[in-house]
Amino acid sequence: MFEKILIANRGEIALRIQRACREMGIKTVVVHSEADADAKYVKLADESVCIGPAPSNLSYLNIPAIISAAEVTDAQAIHPGYGFLSENADFSERVEKCGFVFIGPRAETIRMMGDKVSAKIAMKKAGVPCVPGVEGALPDNPAEIIKIARSIGYPVIIKASGGGGGRGMRVVHTEAALLGAVTMTKSEAQAAFNNPTVYMEKYLENPRHIEFQILADQHGNAVYLGERDCSMQRRNQKIIEEAPAPLLNARLRNKIGERCAEACRKIGYRGAGTFEFLYENGEFFFIEMNTRVQVEHPVTEMITGIDIVRQQILIAAGEKLAFRQRDIQFRGHAIECRINAEHPYKFTPSPGRITSWHAPGGPGIRVDSHAYNNYYVPQHYDSMIGKVIAYGDTREQAMARMRTALSEMAVEGIETNIALHRDLLLDAAFMGGGTSIHYLEERLARNKDK
Ligand code: ADP
Repeated sequence: MFEKILIANRGEIALRIQRACREMGIKTVVVHSEADADAKYVKLADESVCIGPAPSNLSYLNIPAIISAAEVTDAQAIHPGYGFLSENADFSERVEKCGFVFIGPRAETIRMMGDKVSAKIAMKKAGVPCVPGVEGALPDNPAEIIKIARSIGYPVIIKASGGGGGRGMRVVHTEAALLGAVTMTKSEAQAAFNNPTVYMEKYLENPRHIEFQILADQHGNAVYLGERDCSMQRRNQKIIEEAPAPLLNARLRNKIGERCAEACRKIGYRGAGTFEFLYENGEFFFIEMNTRVQVEHPVTEMITGIDIVRQQILIAAGEKLAFRQRDIQFRGHAIECRINAEHPYKFTPSPGRITSWHAPGGPGIRVDSHAYNNYYVPQHYDSMIGKVIAYGDTREQAMARMRTALSEMAVEGIETNIALHRDLLLDAAFMGGGTSIHYLEERLARNKDK
């Protein structure tokens, strides 16, 4: 097992990884920017190294600085967390070439999954159901493009192969708008991702977002840890996630989960990963794979009792999975609310000093956060300052516990979205379960004048 791991991230996930390491008796090195120098989680680490000024491109995305930090501290492995360099194949390659272990998949896997055209081809071949469309990139010939759209049927969506973060896609409802949309998406994709390749698939009008968590070791074993429903989103950003997905039939869960695990065995996947699907009318359609730990991993941990970060470390160290699929049981229900430093209805960011931080507690409540009284939320990074997770025997109990937790929670000095979460936990449609990915935005638009 590793003696020392370097954590190439910040905020709650840096603390989460540190906690797993401490439990396993592994020493930690946290790298940080100047803006995070005084954060408590940095002081809690065994060692810390400042890798640059506040802007991410000079610190958390600075590959040479991170590798030097690993060299001077004698770390053996690097955990990238989520965001930043976690899905950067060049980073993982450099890490391994310099003699460290990258806690994540092989660079070639990250590269294949980071390109949506190649990811979709690989997943289709491995038996994972995909959104109907044509295989591969769109050709340049206008007549061909029109023919492809007709064969799929409108509405269609044009997506950038190198896209990410909800950018680089455009919905097309009529043939008249088709060619213009393709040209625009291509030039946007070139500008944003330095790759003009686009592809076309059917646009699903009212889907839910359901994703499967998998773990795969380096000995050909892979299991699925069930699914999460992350349909409560605004501008493609998830704000509430839950496991299991409401109203999902167990046979279908097992069938899709097994397909995902089998795909991992086929491509020689290593580590934790997530298959994201759109789910509509009882059918699953693969959209992309995330080759890292996700923000919402705790809801899966709550219903399976499996520590996903610990498993990532064990797998990277070459251990075999200690359980098989039949050993994994899904018990109860878990919900996560992402707490953001932003206005609850206008969504304007609200960095600054937290003058008072009161976290909730009690049965079934878990709070993953690096914030505390007097913590300064820097303006340079993502607005998420923590996650509240509620577990219960049933979905109703998890929701009741979440309501209590949100009513106890008090954060002063900055604005947060806690008020929005309180509203949503009392929303009749959400309480019924199974709302689509458009639900939150439609609800916000409806309530605009109130
Ligand atoms: P990104 O990598 O940018 O997050 P995804 O491929 O995961 O891109 O898609 C992001 C979101 O865009 C999805 O969660 C969904 O809301 C929407 N989307 C993508 N493809 C489709 C589709 N075929 N039909 C309907 N919505 C889609």
